[in-house]
Amino acid sequence: MSDGLVAGLHIVATPIGNLGDLSPRAADTLRRADRILAEDTRITGKLLRHIGAKVPMTRYDDHSSEEDRQRVVAQLGDQAIALVSDAGTPLISDPGYKLVRAARAAGHTVHTVPGPSAATAALTLAGLPTDRFLFLGFLPAKAKAREDAIGEVADVRATLVMYESGLRLGSTLATLAERLGARDAAVAREISKLHEECVTGTLPDLAQRYADAAPKGEIVVIVAPATQAACATDEELDDALDEALGRLSPSRAAAEVAERLNIPRKRAYARALERAK
Ligand code: SAM
Repeated sequence: MSDGLVAGLHIVATPIGNLGDLSPRAADTLRRADRILAEDTRITGKLLRHIGAKVPMTRYDDHSSEEDRQRVVAQLGDQAIALVSDAGTPLISDPGYKLVRAARAAGHTVHTVPGPSAATAALTLAGLPTDRFLFLGFLPAKAKAREDAIGEVADVRATLVMYESGLRLGSTLATLAERLGARDAAVAREISKLHEECVTGTLPDLAQRYADAAPKGEIVVIVAPATQAACATDEELDDALDEALGRLSPSRAAAEVAERLNIPRKRAYARALERAK
């Protein structure tokens, strides 16, 4: 039986770099849990040693089966079971939502101990609007799928937040610049660690900076929302292009209109070619 901790599932956020960010309540919950479900028991083992907790751990990750889940759910009636991920808030680009659903469906209580998450921490560094944001997690690894995913959110009037690896950062920023235009953006790296930094600039500037210089460490990319002009309708775009095409070549007209309406040059150019026919 749990040491005073109410039975059920306890979702516990852990630090994303600085162990000092583990909240007293998170530490207390981990110490008093009957069992801890961890993505990687070696990583969580270090955290437990840091807080002097000796609690049995079971692996729970993306490969856990329905059977594994039901085994956990069967124990929740009389045990306090904590779920952690390697770092940050479980379920945020990490395993857990199926377990939360299954636990609740079986009538067990689910508690959360909120804490660090790289997505919200990066938003606090970027200096971009935070009243509306869209979390995209990791974009698809394949170039075409990534381009499509970015295209899908091009007109969304919310700050975009995505996780990225150093190796892919340059090509992701290049695609973002091509599809979203010269929006303000930020690359937040190694948050709460020794080499924490947040580099800000327009998407083309950042794409150039990281083109041949893959940074080390963990990264969140933040991109400013589409502006009203960036959401220019096809009709508005056509009117502007028709006027510009009377004076300029399709490529120059597209460049001028793209800048004026603050839309991606690619969109203006494709339309300019159509209109020029
Ligand atoms: N659940 C975690 C959370 O709440 O932040 C995220 C897990 S996801 C598998 C890991 C990704 O989060 C990393 O690849 C990186 O993009 C981002 N990340 C995690 N820690 C970070 C840090 N200290 N600084 C910047 N990004 C970080």
